[in-house]
Amino acid sequence: MTLYRCVNCKQRINPSELVEERIQCTYCGYRILEKARPEIVHKIKAR
Ligand SMILES: [Zn+2]
Repeated sequence: MTLYRCVNCKQRINPSELVEERIQCTYCGYRILEKARPEIVHKIKAR
């Protein structure tokens, strides 16, 4: 799952609210978003 973050207002945007063809900030209408991974720490155990 990939989250988007507006470059302008830096609000996190739900990808479910976006259509792939129209990537636009739902808060300020800015059209440049960057992909932001959710803050989840992946722990990998070595075998
Ligand atoms: Zn914005």
